Parts: sequence; C-alpha cells; structure tokens
Amino acid sequence: MLKGQKLKTIGGVEVALLPMRYLRVTQTIDEDGTTHDGTLNIDLAGRDSGRDDMYAPVSWSVVRNSNTPNHEVIYWSDNKVLWANGTIDYISVRVLHDDVVIDLPVGRNFDQGDVCYQEGNTGDSQGNHIHLCVARGHTTKIIKHASGYRDLDGSVNPSDVFYINDTIVIKDGGLKWGIYVPPIVPPPIIPIKVGDKVFIKTTATTYLSGVKIPQSRKKGGVFAKNPYTIKQDGDTDRYKKNNGYWLLKEINSWVKKTEVERK
Ligand SMILES: [Zn+2]
Repeated sequence: MLKGQKLKTIGGVEVALLPMRYLRVTQTIDEDGTTHDGTLNIDLAGRDSGRDDMYAPVSWSVVRNSNTPNHEVIYWSDNKVLWANGTIDYISVRVLHDDVVIDLPVGRNFDQGDVCYQEGNTGDSQGNHIHLCVARGHTTKIIKHASGYRDLDGSVNPSDVFYINDTIVIKDGGLKWGIYVPPIVPPPIIPIKVGDKVFIKTTATTYLSGVKIPQSRKKGGVFAKNPYTIKQDGDTDRYKKNNGYWLLKEINSWVKKTEVERK
C-alpha cells in the first residue's frame, strides 16, 4: 500500500492492505530451522537494509505496548474489515522490533494509511525488519507452539488477510498474495413512465429482418422459442446499426411491439 492510502468496498468496509510500500519477506511462515518454525509469522524487511515505515493496513488502535526488548506492539482494527480471502472480520496484529515505541501508547488511533510503526533492530533481531503476526478477531493472547515459537492466538496466514494493491513485490515469501479489484457496478435502472405504464430499458438483438424481443420474463430474459419479431418499418438504418438495441420493458411483463421505443 501507499502512505495515506484508503480503500473501502462499495458497502463501506475497509479493505485490508499489505502495510508497506515494498514486500520483501526475509523469513516466511513455518520456515524450518528459523524462529518462525510452526508459526504463521512473517518478517517484512522493506525495500533494502534501511528502516521503512509501516502504514496502518486498516483503521486501528494500539491495545498493547509491552515495553519488552522486542518492542512488541499489538493493534486491533476499529471495525470488521475485508480480508484477501473474502472474510469480513476484525483483525489483531502483533509487530516487533521498531527502535522507538514510546510514541505508541495504548489507545492511540491511526487511520488507514497512517504511519504507525517502523522497521527496527531491537530485541531478537538481526537487521532492520518488522516481525508481523495477524490473527482473526480481537486478541492479545500469545500461544507457544510445540516448536517453542509464538503466535497470536487465532493467527492466520498474512496472505489470507492483506491485499498487495500498490505494493512493490521484491520477495513474496512463497505466499499467494492477491490484489483487490472492485466489482463492476451496473448502471442504475431508471424507470420511465409512458402514459399509465412504467417501463425500464433493456436490450434486444437486432437482425436485418427486425428486432427480436424476449417474450416472457419467466424465461429470465433469454429469448423464448418464438419471440416477437418486429418487422422493419422503413427505418432500416437504425435496425442495422443498433445491435444491442434498446427497447422498453414494462415492469412485470414484456411490452407489446407497438410499445418499442427506438434509442
Ligand atoms: Zn520474525
């Protein structure tokens, strides 16, 4: 994502975004022989060895700043958000290693896209990065796996949560990341009143011999076996040109051919 980026669905649900400009996973989930063995944690190291900012992937607040050597901070989303796998739910995110966290008191709120954390090298770290764990719902509970390593309770695969819109992928950690594509919204159906009747516009297929109109709504708008055929009435030019011809459909029943209106 970009700094300051905000993204919502048409219904107003925030879309969870990968919280950095560059995706470079230096240690991925369940990586054997590492501190992520048996966990769903990833290390995000940004563009290079420097300290990139992390942006709030959704609007959220600090719920824990534990002041441990790792500089652990946990955030809770303010609302239920859209995940990359289609889930709509709250998220909790635990991050480690920012060098300075004194500016992150419990209760501090961030809008989606605000700078909320930074890569660092504190605690159990070998080079600037952010250790990240994301879980379903609101939790601060830490669980310890058989491997000896820790996760937030209810942790999930980060690629199931974060879309990578506007993030530049350098190293994907072997995970399948998705891009949020807003659905195409059909144009609004505007009823038209003709005399006492109310119509909506629909399409028909034109042929050189005339216009075929679906006969019945029961056919779901598919042409019936014997559709009306409107004979050409001298205005042949229009019939030829307007494939995908507009006609008016009376609400609840198809119009008679005399009620067909040219575009
Ligand atoms: Zn890590």
